[in-house]
Amino acid sequence: MAELSFFAGTMDCGKSTLALQMDHNHRARGRAGLIFTRLDRSGEAVLSSRLGLETPAIEVATDLDIWEAVVAHLTAGGRVDYLICDEAQFYTPGQVEQLARIVDELDIEVFAFGITSDFRTELFPGSRRLIELADRTQVLQVSALCWCGRRATHNARVVDGVMVVEGEQVVVGDTADPDHVAEVEYEVLCRRHHMRRMSSQAARAAAQSADVLPFDLDACPVPPRG
Ligand SMILES: [Zn+2]
Repeated sequence: MAELSFFAGTMDCGKSTLALQMDHNHRARGRAGLIFTRLDRSGEAVLSSRLGLETPAIEVATDLDIWEAVVAHLTAGGRVDYLICDEAQFYTPGQVEQLARIVDELDIEVFAFGITSDFRTELFPGSRRLIELADRTQVLQVSALCWCGRRATHNARVVDGVMVVEGEQVVVGDTADPDHVAEVEYEVLCRRHHMRRMSSQAARAAAQSADVLPFDLDACPVPPRG
């Protein structure tokens, strides 16, 4: 019986590496799969990992009907035993529903990989729909650490060195001011330092300027919601 499986994690949790490994394992057993991704870090229609591995993939544009794509592949005589769907947080809720239909009606195994929540700690729409529909959701073991040494469970966006918790969910280029292109970086933090907006850079600055270390939570209170 095919299942819709969602492997959820933070950034830097090695999910793309796991997706590639999953594809390799199934291929080694003589099974055939299709690989989908969206806005891969390489900027091309490939599934790539931080370790430098990569494989061609189908780009999940907003208007792609994944159900139609798979049916077309089957109709053309192709074989599909499973789908690997990376960066699934960026899929639309409708595309996630197509994945569920592929499992139920075509009996094709679907392995989806995605980041659970964005830099505001809010669920991505694609991840929300996967949590709602998946036969099983597995939270990936976090290997990344916050600067304080705790498990890094939350994604932070740092713009020009300052952590922000407001803004567009996905930044696609910065064309607002041609004279100043903001430097957007991401960092993984533990929840307590995410809520206190204490990125590694802020922590270093605080440690240099204060008598108390930023490990002391009283030194970095949670800012009021604004
Ligand atoms: Zn921390």
